[in-house]
Amino acid sequence: MKIDLAAVEESARDLYIRALKVLPPDIKDGIADLVRHETVPTAQRVLGAMMTNISVAEDQNNLLCQDTGIPIYKVLIGSGVEVDGHALKQAIRKGCERATREHPLRSSVVHPLTRKNEHSSCGIEIPAISIDFTDSPDVLRIMMIPKGSGSENNSFLKMAIPAEGIDAIKKFTIDCVLAAGGKTCPPTIVGVGIGGTSELCVALAKRASTRPLGTHCADPDGAALEQQLSAAVNQLGVGPQGLGGDSTAFAVHIELAATHITMNPVAVNMQCHSARRASATFTPAGVTYGF
Ligand code: SF4
Repeated sequence: MKIDLAAVEESARDLYIRALKVLPPDIKDGIADLVRHETVPTAQRVLGAMMTNISVAEDQNNLLCQDTGIPIYKVLIGSGVEVDGHALKQAIRKGCERATREHPLRSSVVHPLTRKNEHSSCGIEIPAISIDFTDSPDVLRIMMIPKGSGSENNSFLKMAIPAEGIDAIKKFTIDCVLAAGGKTCPPTIVGVGIGGTSELCVALAKRASTRPLGTHCADPDGAALEQQLSAAVNQLGVGPQGLGGDSTAFAVHIELAATHITMNPVAVNMQCHSARRASATFTPAGVTYGF
């Protein structure tokens, strides 16, 4: 399957705009579920305001949040796909810039030292584009995530001591959620990366925090820990927007990697209640959009 790079550019543009306007159904269901179980009246009102905000954005074709985030694109490529990888990244970058200039969107991206904003949502290494491979031969999938700064600013890594074991992982996760408080715009998806090297551990935490609700860690021990920690963080009382309540997190998601015998890395990355994402899947039949 040969990929039309002009179509990739169009999709990269459309995905950014789409992600900012339409919340995935699993996140909407997640908020509705929290409303059903929330016992604190203030928290119920905050969750209600979030639901109203989502419907108003969708009804008026408007943004879910003023924070257009830092743009992230994840690409999956099948073995039957014929594409120039460098040109593919250029097309995605161009699409991201076009979304910002043509929609127009607020560019939330600046040079890290001069703080200059090019008003393109692009800069050095941004959009962040990662490429991986899928065992579906005739598929190219692009997922777009506008990652809000409130949640991204609360990202943490600890190289714990192996002798501290799983207790160190649990304590670090709880401490991070408490330290973040309302700054992550909770309820959040708490992504926890466990194992690997330092940079892989941080990447796993981001993969976990951006996974759809209702999905589970592929490792049974990781899945069991997800359940324990999901219950634990919702007993902290942080609540929606940090104003108190039972609904601190939709869930804790965990991703694992093997690690060194003398290492015990754990990373936490949180996704806010505006857990936006959108995807485009290219197959021989055409392009389909989803989440
Ligand atoms: S963290 Fe999320 S909800 Fe909060 S301002 Fe940023 S995008 Fe909006």
